[in-house]
Amino acid sequence: MAKENLGVHTICAHVGEIKDEQFGGAVSPIYMASSYEYMDVDVKRYPRYFNTPNQEAVGKKIAALAHAEMAMPFASGMAAISTTLFTFLNHGDHIVLQNEIYGGSFNLVVEEFEKMGIDYSFTDGVEAADFEAKIKPNTKVLYLETPSNPLLTITDIKAVAAIAKKHGLVSMIDNTFASPINQRPLDLGIDISLHSATKYLGGHSDICAGAVATSEVYIEKIWQKAKNMGGSLSDFMCYLLERSIKTLGVRVDKHNSNAQEIAEFLNTHSAVEKVYYPGLPSHPKHDIAKAQMHGFGGMLSFELTEEYDAVQFQKELQLVKPSMSLAGVESTILLPSATSHALLTPEQRAAVSISDNLLRFSIGIENAKDIINDVEHALKKALVTLV
Ligand SMILES: *Cc1c(COP(=O)(O)O)cnc(C)c1O
Repeated sequence: MAKENLGVHTICAHVGEIKDEQFGGAVSPIYMASSYEYMDVDVKRYPRYFNTPNQEAVGKKIAALAHAEMAMPFASGMAAISTTLFTFLNHGDHIVLQNEIYGGSFNLVVEEFEKMGIDYSFTDGVEAADFEAKIKPNTKVLYLETPSNPLLTITDIKAVAAIAKKHGLVSMIDNTFASPINQRPLDLGIDISLHSATKYLGGHSDICAGAVATSEVYIEKIWQKAKNMGGSLSDFMCYLLERSIKTLGVRVDKHNSNAQEIAEFLNTHSAVEKVYYPGLPSHPKHDIAKAQMHGFGGMLSFELTEEYDAVQFQKELQLVKPSMSLAGVESTILLPSATSHALLTPEQRAAVSISDNLLRFSIGIENAKDIINDVEHALKKALVTLV
């Protein structure tokens, strides 16, 4: 079977699996060994060398999905992101990052980089020209994230990749929100695709993992750094991740169609001021999203009008759970002003369009009608009564 010709669902179900030679079982055996024979072998295996059978198996599956030569699983999304950044950034180097990036990645940059002598600039916007404007003679990396969190901003991946190529820089993307089902940045010219596998790749809210997918040459470099940083994923977690990815394609298809239906419902609801979803024609970058994504994803954000109390709304929800993370099979919701952006003042939040009534909605794979009914019921009870 030529791997290149397989469809995504077949890749999800089969690529990378370890054949059970001993018993003929249907699934990859779990090899928990932390010590392997070293004499007369080609590969000296050790868990922190990222080369145990289960680590290699899940890496192959992720690589095939991302259209990458190789991929490596990590102990968390941040382990994948930090290890990869520190592979390509040394003392004296500079990086340009998109202004809207995941909070943990932002903290890594502002809390650690200066101490390590690494210079950084955030872009003013998300256009390719905004990235180019910040490039300095010592710039080594361009870093983007699209769709972004929590406003689902879309950056033109091809355009940013072209800027990186023009200036001889390494381009990296945090592809967590889209998943490799909805977006394959390497096909668009990006060098390195990063994932929090805690989100869609895991998908059941019970795994913390990360992944990096790129060329063989870059994996070799990242691997050298990764051995020293030590953020390897346990074999049991690799097995769970491999198991989860078997259904990634069908899950993401359902996340996509549910989110589209709910975005359209919210978009016409009188309680809703604004909906942020790349699948809506009203999204300012809908055309770019359509060109670079295979599906618009399961994440959306919406802002309630002032007549509604967002905190009360969350309390009244019965099916949808207010919760910190995202991308599980269950629908969850979060108020950025009370969580990820709580440390900003209301004015600072307003400056980045994150009002106190903005909700980030991770649409699950339940029946869309049930999610809509839950939202409708909670909205009725969240109307602010004038005193
Ligand atoms: C969650 C998340 C991360 C970090 O992943 P962890 O697995 O929590 O370390 C990075 N980027 C995005 C977009 C995320 O949502």
